[in-house]
Amino acid sequence: MNVNQSAPPVPPFGQPQPVYAGYHQSNYGGQPGSTAPPTPYGAYNGPVPGYQQTLAPGVSRAPPSSGAPPASRAQAPCGQATYGQFGQGDVQNGPSSTVQMQRIPGSQPFGSAALAPVVSQPTVFPPFGPLPSSAQVTAQLAGMQISGAVAPAPPTSGLGYGPPTSLPSASGSFPNSGLYGSYSQGQAPPLSQTQGHPGAQPPQRSALPQASSYTPPASGGPRMPSMTGPLLPGQGFGGPPVSQPNHVSSPPPQVLPPGTQMTGPPGAPPPMHSSQQPGYQLQQNGSFGPARSPQPNYGSPYPGAPTFGSQPGPPQPLPPKRLDPDAIPSPIQVIEDDRNSRGSEPFVTGVRGQVPPLVTTSFLVKDQGNASPRYIRCTSYNIPCTSDMAKQAQVPLAAVIKPLARLPPEEASLYVVDHGESGPLRCNRCKAYMCPFMQFIEGGRRFQCCFCSCINDVPPQYFQHLDHTGKRVDAYDRPELSLGSYEFLATVDYCKNNKFPSPPAFIFMIDVSYNAIRSGLVRLLCEELKSLLDFLPREGRAEESAIRVGFVTYNKVLHFYNVKSSLAQPQMMVVSDVADMFVPLLDGFLVNVNESRAVITSLLDQIPEMFADTRETETVFAPVIQAGMEALKAAECAGKLFLFHTSLPIAEAPGKLKNRDDRKLINTDKEKTLFQPQTGAYQTLAKECVAQGCCVDLFLFPNQYVDVATLSVVPQLTGGSVYKYACFQVENDQERFLSDLRRDVQKVVGFDAVMRVRTSTGIRAVDFFGAFYMSNTTDVELAGLDGDKTVTVEFKHDDRLNEESGALLQCALLYTSCAGQRRLRIHNLALNCCTQLADLYRNCETDTLINYMAKFAYRGVLNSPVKTVRDTLITQCAQILACYRKNCASPSSAGQLILPECMKLLPVYLNCVLKSDVLQPGAEVTTDDRAYVRQLVTSMDVAETNVFFYPRLLPLTKSPIESTTEPPAVRASEERLSNGDIYLLENGLNLFLWVGASVQQGVVQSLFSVSSFSQITSGLSVLPVLDNPLSKKVRGLIDNLRAQRSRYMKLIVVKQEDKLEMLFKHFLVEDKSLSGGASYVDFLCHMHKEIRQLLS
Ligand SMILES: [Zn+2]
Repeated sequence: MNVNQSAPPVPPFGQPQPVYAGYHQSNYGGQPGSTAPPTPYGAYNGPVPGYQQTLAPGVSRAPPSSGAPPASRAQAPCGQATYGQFGQGDVQNGPSSTVQMQRIPGSQPFGSAALAPVVSQPTVFPPFGPLPSSAQVTAQLAGMQISGAVAPAPPTSGLGYGPPTSLPSASGSFPNSGLYGSYSQGQAPPLSQTQGHPGAQPPQRSALPQASSYTPPASGGPRMPSMTGPLLPGQGFGGPPVSQPNHVSSPPPQVLPPGTQMTGPPGAPPPMHSSQQPGYQLQQNGSFGPARSPQPNYGSPYPGAPTFGSQPGPPQPLPPKRLDPDAIPSPIQVIEDDRNSRGSEPFVTGVRGQVPPLVTTSFLVKDQGNASPRYIRCTSYNIPCTSDMAKQAQVPLAAVIKPLARLPPEEASLYVVDHGESGPLRCNRCKAYMCPFMQFIEGGRRFQCCFCSCINDVPPQYFQHLDHTGKRVDAYDRPELSLGSYEFLATVDYCKNNKFPSPPAFIFMIDVSYNAIRSGLVRLLCEELKSLLDFLPREGRAEESAIRVGFVTYNKVLHFYNVKSSLAQPQMMVVSDVADMFVPLLDGFLVNVNESRAVITSLLDQIPEMFADTRETETVFAPVIQAGMEALKAAECAGKLFLFHTSLPIAEAPGKLKNRDDRKLINTDKEKTLFQPQTGAYQTLAKECVAQGCCVDLFLFPNQYVDVATLSVVPQLTGGSVYKYACFQVENDQERFLSDLRRDVQKVVGFDAVMRVRTSTGIRAVDFFGAFYMSNTTDVELAGLDGDKTVTVEFKHDDRLNEESGALLQCALLYTSCAGQRRLRIHNLALNCCTQLADLYRNCETDTLINYMAKFAYRGVLNSPVKTVRDTLITQCAQILACYRKNCASPSSAGQLILPECMKLLPVYLNCVLKSDVLQPGAEVTTDDRAYVRQLVTSMDVAETNVFFYPRLLPLTKSPIESTTEPPAVRASEERLSNGDIYLLENGLNLFLWVGASVQQGVVQSLFSVSSFSQITSGLSVLPVLDNPLSKKVRGLIDNLRAQRSRYMKLIVVKQEDKLEMLFKHFLVEDKSLSGGASYVDFLCHMHKEIRQLLS
C-alpha cells in the first residue's frame, strides 16, 4: 500500500478551517445505553455530548433543506446515536444492526416458511425450491423438453434437492489435507421436501409486471457485448437469427469430448436419453431452448413431486433428450472472451457507470475520477431509477468494497492529501468529503454537495477560480478533485479521545497444551517468529516497524513474559485467576523488536523446552483474548492478537465451551444452531475488543471438533482472520501454516477503523456483510482491516433517482496506519441510472451478484433452515431472469430459455453456491468445516468467491511444453477430464493434481520420478524437484497459482480411480454432487421451469 510514499502532487494547501472540522464526536464504540459498552472513543460523526467540549466551533448541524433531516439524531441526548454529522441523518438509518445482520434481501424473512416434512428420495433429479402452490406447472413445463442426464426415478414424494436425510456420521478423522475426510459412497439419498414454501415466497417478488407491456428497445433487444467464438457446425438455431456469434451452441446431444470418462459419481445413473429432438437451441442474446410446442410429460423428471408434477398418474418416461453441456453457457468461454476483449487495454475510470473487466481478466486501471474496480465492484453499474423497477427486477443493488486493496506494482499508490489543521474539506450537512463530483459555483466561492445538494462556502484558503466549463483550474493538481481514490491526513479531531494514536502492537498468544507441544507446533512457531519479527509491517521506507510486540503462552493458565531489553533473561509471570483477567506487567510486556531482540530470542528458544513435558490438555480461550485486549488497553494502543489454539476450551473459565456438535441437526430446523455461537460471551468480548481497536487473528490446529462457530466470533467481529489446520503435523502442514503466518503477520493492516458509505439522494446503504462490528446502522467498525477483506454493502431506494445525475457512492474509511498515523481513505464511484430495465441487465456483473448472494445466504443460515435459504436464492434468481425475459427479451417461444448476456452464468454459479458445503454438506463435511467456510466467504472479494464456487481446472499436458502462459481452463466436470492427461484444480483454498490412468509413462517419469502410474503415491503433497521442462513448468504453475491467492493452497495428488478421487470430484461443480446437488444441466432445466412458471 505504502500510501505515504507517494508525494502528493499538490501544493500544501489548507489552513485551519474550523468550520469544516469533522468527525469530532465520539462514541466510536457504541451507543451508551445500548448493548455496546460505553467507550472513550469518539463516534465517527457527531459528538456524543460527553465529548462536546471537543467540538470545533462552527460545526454545522443544521438540518438539510431537503431530504430527511438528520437533526433529530444529531441532537440526540447522551446515550443515543449521535451520528448526524456523519451522513444523511435518518435517511441513513435502516433497521437496527441486530436486525440487519439477519435481514433477507427484499425484506423477506427466511423464517416465515415452515420446514416441510422431509422424505428420502433415492434418486437424482434435483429437487428445487418453492413454487407457488397454486401453480399448475405441468403444462408450463411441457414446452421445455429437456431433461438432465438422469434416469427416470421411482416416484417419490419429494424433491431431492436437500442434503441427505440420513448422513453417515462424521468419521471424526481429519485427513492431513486439512480438507474433509474421504467421501463415503453409500450415502443416503438426498432429502426432499414435499411442498413448496409459500411463506418463503417474498411478497414483492410476485410483483412482476402484470403484463408484458414493456417495449423492447428498437434494436429488438439489449445490445450485448460481442462474443467471440465459433459456432459449432451443425447446430440449430431457434428463434431469431443470431446477429452475433455466441459461444454457446447446440450440437447433437450426447456429444462428449474425446477421452471423456463416462463414469459419473457413484450412484448416479448414466445418461440414458438418446436425442431425438433438438434441445436448447441457440437464440440471440444468450437464449437457449427449443422453440417447440409444449409436451405434457415434462413433469416426470420430478416424479411425484407435488410442486413439479401436479398431474395425477404414474411418472411418465423422460423425454428422450439430453441437454448437451456444450450447448449451455460456459464459464470458461465467458472468461476467455473477456480476457481477449478487455485484457489488453487499461480500464480508465473516467466514464460513469462503466462495467469493468471480469475479475478473471488481468488488466491495469487508470484512475480518472472513479474508484478502481480493485476497490469497489458493483452488482450493476446502471441502477433503476425507481424502487418499483428495482423490485420488479429483483437484482440486488450491492457494492463489494475492499478499501485497502493492494494494487499491482504498475499502478500508483494513493496520494495522501493534507488539508491542514482544519482537516479534510467536507460538506457541512452530510459530511461527505471533497471529491471530483462536487460542483463549484458562484465563480468558485461556493460548492454544491453532490450527495445532498447542500450549498457550502469554499474556505478562503481553498478558493480557486473556475474555467469556462465551471471546473476549478486546479482540479488536476488536487487528487480530491480529479481522482476516484485518495487519502486525507486526519486531524486530532478524528482520533480517539482527541489524542493522536500510539503505534499499534502485535501480541503472540501461544497455546502450550499437550496437543500443541506434541504436534511440533510450538517449536515450529517459536523458531519461525525469531525471523518473522523482522518483517512486521512498516510504513513506507521506514527503517524499522513501529509495531511493538508482546508474548503470552497459555493452557489452563496464562503466562506473560517480560522481555524488556535491559533484562538478561525473559521473566515469566503466571496468571491463574482466569475468571478475572488482568495484565500482571506493563513495562516490558510490549517492546520494540530490535531493542529487545536478545531477550525475545532467548524466550522463543525457551518456550518449547519449558513446556516439553506438559501433560496439560485443557485450555482456556476467552481469557486469552481478554488478556491481550487488556494489555492493549493498558498500553493505550490498537493492535492485533495472533492466537495459536488447538482445542475446545473446556477448562473452567469464562467462555468455557462444551462439545455440542450434532450432525443429526443437519437439515432440520435446528441446523442453524450449528452456525450460531453457543454462548453470548464472545460477542460481548468482541465488542470490548472493537472499542479498543483490538483485532484478533486465530490460527486453529484442531484434532477434533473445536466449535469454530463460537471461536471465530471474536475474529469475525474484529475484522480478523481465521485459519484452520486440521490434524496439524509439522511434516505435512508446516509449509502451509508458515506461508499463511508470514503473509498474515506482514500484511498491511489498518487499525481502529470506521467505514461509512454515503450515497447521493435516492439510494442509501441498508445492509452490510463482512468481518466487522456495527453498533448503529451506518458505521462499520473494524478493529482491524487488511488488504484482503471486503465489506459488502447493499443499497435500497428511498427516492427516485435521476438518469441525468446518476447515483454516487462515497466510501470513507478512517483508520490508523501501521505507523500510528490517522488517515481517511476515500473511494468515490458514480453509477448510471436507468428508466429501462434492459439497461440494468446490460450493465450487471454476475460475479459480484454471486458474491453478494453467497454472503446473503451464508448469513441466512444463522437464522433459517438451510432449505429455506436455498429456496430463497433459487426464487430470486428465477425472478431476476423472468423479469428480463418478460421485459427485455425479444418475443420468442415460451419454450426457449433466454438469459441476459451479462447474466448467462448466473444459473451455473448460483448452483455452485447452492451445493456448497454450507448449504448442502456432503457426509464428510464437518460442522467446523462448514462454520469455517461460512465465515471465510463473508469477507471474500469477488475474485475469491468466483474461483471458490467455480474452481479452475487446468489441463497440463495439452498445451505445448514451451508455452509459458497458463493453459486455458476447462469446465469443472468429469466429462472434461481425459484419462491421458494431468490437471490442476484450484479454488483458492484447495489445490489438486489429478492424474489420469492412461497418462504417458514419460509424463509420469518427468513429474513424479517413478516409472508407472501405479507407483505414484496417492495423496502426495509435494512434487519432486526434477530437472526437466515438464516438472519445472508444473511446479512453476503451482507457485503461480499460490501467489495469486491470499491463503496457501496445499497440493494433493489424486490418481484416477483412487479413493481420494471422491474428494477431488467434490470440486467438479458442473456435475451432480454426492450430497444431492444438481448438475449444471439439471439446474438450468429447473431454472427454466421456474422462470416459465413466473411468466405464466
Ligand atoms: Zn452534502
